[in-house]
Amino acid sequence: MTQTVLLPNPILREPARRVPTRVGRRYFIRTFGCQMNEHDSERIAGLFEMDGMTPAGGFESADVVYINTCTIRENADNRMYGNLGQLKAVKDLNPAMMLVVGGCAAQKDRDMVRERAPWVDVVMGTHNLDRVLDLMDHAENWGPITEVVDELQAMPSSLPVKRELEHSAWVTIQVGCNNTCTFCIVPSVRGVEVSRRPGDIVREVERLAADGVVEVTLLGQNVDTYGRDLALNGKRRPIFAELLRRVGEVDGIRRVRFTSPHPNDFREDVAHAMADTDEVCEHLHFPLQSGSDRILRAMHRGYNRKKYTERLAMAREIIPGLAVSTDIIVGFPGETDGDFAITLEMVEEARFDSAFMFIFSPRPGTSAANLTEQFVPEETIKERFARLSEMQNRISGERNAEMVGRKVEVLSEGPSRKDTQVATTRTRTGKVVHVAGTHRAGSFLTVEVGTAHPHHLVGSPV
Ligand code: SF4
Repeated sequence: MTQTVLLPNPILREPARRVPTRVGRRYFIRTFGCQMNEHDSERIAGLFEMDGMTPAGGFESADVVYINTCTIRENADNRMYGNLGQLKAVKDLNPAMMLVVGGCAAQKDRDMVRERAPWVDVVMGTHNLDRVLDLMDHAENWGPITEVVDELQAMPSSLPVKRELEHSAWVTIQVGCNNTCTFCIVPSVRGVEVSRRPGDIVREVERLAADGVVEVTLLGQNVDTYGRDLALNGKRRPIFAELLRRVGEVDGIRRVRFTSPHPNDFREDVAHAMADTDEVCEHLHFPLQSGSDRILRAMHRGYNRKKYTERLAMAREIIPGLAVSTDIIVGFPGETDGDFAITLEMVEEARFDSAFMFIFSPRPGTSAANLTEQFVPEETIKERFARLSEMQNRISGERNAEMVGRKVEVLSEGPSRKDTQVATTRTRTGKVVHVAGTHRAGSFLTVEVGTAHPHHLVGSPV
């Protein structure tokens, strides 16, 4: 029998300590979606390893499979249900395999996941990661269970972790979002903004540094408003700039990154903290979404073209050598040729180093999904998308070409996936540089950039 449990506990709890009960079993995690999900998956892996499990190479050899779902894009949803379909066949051959579905789609569409994939053992949400082992115990003993709660139960960073890269770590500083972007499902699946105490964050970064981590990425949906829900010295105000400075002071941390800021909330104090703190990398992800004021209003973004342009200019003036990346949505409902032309104009002017470009995809549960009468025809969207990609690829190539001949510090991420004789490394500005030879993940080296391509550079050690 499937049991649904709703817990009303609003108090953030510590993960329960337990004796490992699954020693020798193997787990496999498939993650869809954004960095927040990737980070959650690292925490799930940490909990699995705390329980004695080790990683498996794929679904077939796993005793436990965890699917971390996403609802941001329709494509991710479709792939998730496709994966669950495949897993039914695997489970038919091996009924003892435990299948757990978590993440945003499970949080939002808990009943739909159960309905479309009744063979799933555990359906859980984004707010109760710390419960995964208990829920698996329940499923093993009493059958399938759904537990989705509406309030955050444990900050992901309070849970054990198995990091993808040993030298680099995500650090959650905030979960949830108080904005109402009309295309976005995050506020309804991740809830309102909750900031973690700064002292707690700094202590975690200190522990990470002691563990050999040299790079941290501070993670929140809208980092510029970090701290405004905390009463510190009797005041409630954003304190992200102060947090950046404090994290930068931690011994052993050589690179501090963060994602994502919001153009509406990005202020000079943060730009100054970036410029003054050597450890904070000169890279800003500054999501534009559209260049048209009319579309930005319909998206509820809270800024217009002028404000965005002024804030970008301010950031570039204060932070020397700043690289800027962005997000752009093509074909938001009601986008006309004129609106799109303004976006192209903005992209040409802004000269972003890189851009994540998305085709609008209506997400059930968002207000933009109801604007069906204004949906832009698919052919038109495809044609606009191709024009935008071509323009941005050209600009990215030009920006990267400016690096040729320069000597830059890079941090190795280990052998490249395509060629083990080449290391994938990254500059402080977030650009990928392929460097011949073996360079241990986590090692810093200086390289001279030889050639430039739109999505990567090639360099040689100096
Ligand atoms: S700022 Fe907008 S796009 Fe970003 S998480 Fe919040 S609602 Fe979503």
